[in-house]
Amino acid sequence: MHADQTIQHYSSVLLRTFDKISDFVFFMEVDGSTYRYVFVNEPGRQAIGWTEADIGKRVEDMVPPETAALVTRHYDEAVRERKSLVFEDYRLAEPSYTTAVVSHEIHLPVYYYESEVTPVFDEAGACTHVISVVREVTERKRRELELSILKDQHESLQRYSPHGIFVLDDAFRVQSVNPAVTQITGYEEADLLGESFLSWLPESERALVDEGLRSALSGTPHKYGMTAPQKTGNWLDLAILNIPIEVGGHITGLFAIIIDHTPEKNAERATQESERRYRQLIETIPEGIIVHKDGVILYANALALETIGETYIESESIFTFVATEYHETTKARLQALRQGDPVQDTEIVLVTPAGRKLHMDIGSLLIDYEGTTAVMTLLRDVTEKREMERALHQSETQYRLITENMSDLVCILERDGQVRYASPSHQTVLGYAPSFYEGKNTLDFIHPNDVEPARQQLRTMTATSEPLTLEFRHLHQDGRWIWLETKIQAIYDDTGQLLHYLTVTREIMKRKVLEKQLKHLAYHDTLTDLPNRRYFLAYLEETLARFEEEDESLAILSLDIDCFKQINDTLGHDIGDELLRQFSTRLTDVLRNQDVVARFGGDEFSVLIRYTEADAPKRVAEKLVTALQRPWQIEDHSFVTTSSVGVAPYRPGMSTKLLLKRADLALYQAKANGRNQYALFEDRS
Ligand code: GH3
Ligand code: MG
Repeated sequence: MHADQTIQHYSSVLLRTFDKISDFVFFMEVDGSTYRYVFVNEPGRQAIGWTEADIGKRVEDMVPPETAALVTRHYDEAVRERKSLVFEDYRLAEPSYTTAVVSHEIHLPVYYYESEVTPVFDEAGACTHVISVVREVTERKRRELELSILKDQHESLQRYSPHGIFVLDDAFRVQSVNPAVTQITGYEEADLLGESFLSWLPESERALVDEGLRSALSGTPHKYGMTAPQKTGNWLDLAILNIPIEVGGHITGLFAIIIDHTPEKNAERATQESERRYRQLIETIPEGIIVHKDGVILYANALALETIGETYIESESIFTFVATEYHETTKARLQALRQGDPVQDTEIVLVTPAGRKLHMDIGSLLIDYEGTTAVMTLLRDVTEKREMERALHQSETQYRLITENMSDLVCILERDGQVRYASPSHQTVLGYAPSFYEGKNTLDFIHPNDVEPARQQLRTMTATSEPLTLEFRHLHQDGRWIWLETKIQAIYDDTGQLLHYLTVTREIMKRKVLEKQLKHLAYHDTLTDLPNRRYFLAYLEETLARFEEEDESLAILSLDIDCFKQINDTLGHDIGDELLRQFSTRLTDVLRNQDVVARFGGDEFSVLIRYTEADAPKRVAEKLVTALQRPWQIEDHSFVTTSSVGVAPYRPGMSTKLLLKRADLALYQAKANGRNQYALFEDRS
């Protein structure tokens, strides 16, 4: 049998073997640009519904026009090119096979096919047939697509991530970087590729980073912070993330992700710095500052604490310190501040825990304080100023009262000193009627010792000079010498000719007396007329300064009436006042003349005694305690009070302050021991 015949014989067997393979096999006859079915294997038949009866049918007779066009196009190409070609498509099977499914958010057809088209030529080289083998490649196709999606996703992450991503190999060499790396570090990809990840980091951080990389390489992701310079040298605050890259169960490299925290860190540092400067500012400005919120004190600077006399007032209410009569206005101010209205500076009174009333100029504003809105109040202590103003006002009124009742003496004198005119006040001041002086020379009435100096001063007077002030003694009608102060003004005419003198004279004795009165006022207590604390302190200071040489001793006794408040409360304040007066009198009566007694304020008195016998202070104290228990008779009240006494003997070198302090401590002791007794300061030195 010829080979040809053998093939003929076996062709049907051969063709049937095609039925056994899963690929579709189409054997087509080429008829110009038409392709007719000669043979289709079993899987192919099922795919397009082909039977033996369809032999000789055209492609477009068997499959949808779209598929037919596609297939024909590729057949044409293979014929034209005279070689095999491969193409892929999903339309090659029944339409029902090509229903799309959703995978990874994109539509994938159910089946994909790969076709290999092979042209067959006769001896003359003409193409007579085409063999098309179609293989289902859905799985492969899907994997490819998924892979490309993953790749795209990965690339998007790299491209758009705000964090720098380094891909490192297992020796920490840079394989790739994303654009953010350049944005953050300033290094281009070319600067880094193939270099160690550690190469751009500062020496000081390398050990830490190396450890992080190693730990990631052994499978544990690692995160840490560090600082590193940009290419330009500016420092960055970075968080670094090391993540293993695992491929096929093996770690082949790492991601080093850098997160730039520099702006946040800078902001944080700036806030801290400004907070520190702000603190420093409030600690150093010479004003008291209190920061409070909802009336609760959050912060007080050193000066505010000093003013109030406390060491810690945080978390207390501001109303603890504001005098009751200022509570309403203070609340109104806070309300206004809360509404965002500015408030004017004002003056209020604070009461310290020790009971002192302080006049304060205050200004308040809203501030941000440790993350919340609070009120900052600036305090300026104007107590002293107010007290001085009051004192000044008082002494001014007193002074004016006296001067207004005191009339000046006015005279006009001739050039030779003869009196041409004397004012009526001469009568009251000097005892003579004004007419008595007229025609007489004033110098005749001046004390012999004062005449010559006065004459001399008068001679120096010139047309341009200021009025001259003379002080001299002048004879009173009753023979006394009266101190006068005279202002003399020479009056000249237009030509410079001396016309006369005008004198204005006042009796300076009265001024002296007034000065004395004012001084007394300043140094005495108005209720009891005893020296006051100021006087006592000055006196004590003076005494101690000169004390050294003398061989006597000194002691201070501090006295305080026991339960004096009860007298006020039960008998009234006026009886209380009178008791204080009688108490003063009794004190001065009981003590010797040279002892100095002062009222320190309230029911508190101090006595300075000089002594030579060591037990004198005790004896005086005993005497006082006893004397002060004698009953009082005020109006129709008869009652008894007791008093406590603290005794502090002076020791050389002691300051007035210390001595008084000791007396106070002793008094405190006497009170603590049960009152109506004295206590001696325990001197252990
Ligand atoms: P203690 O035994 O502790 O001394 O009790 P006390 O009641 O005497 O208390 P303290 O000495 O602290 O109080 C003195 C009181 O004297 C307080 C005040 O009401 C009253 N006071 C202060 N100055 C005057 C004043 O000029 N006249 C009158 N009548 N009372 C005064
Ligand atoms: Mg008292």
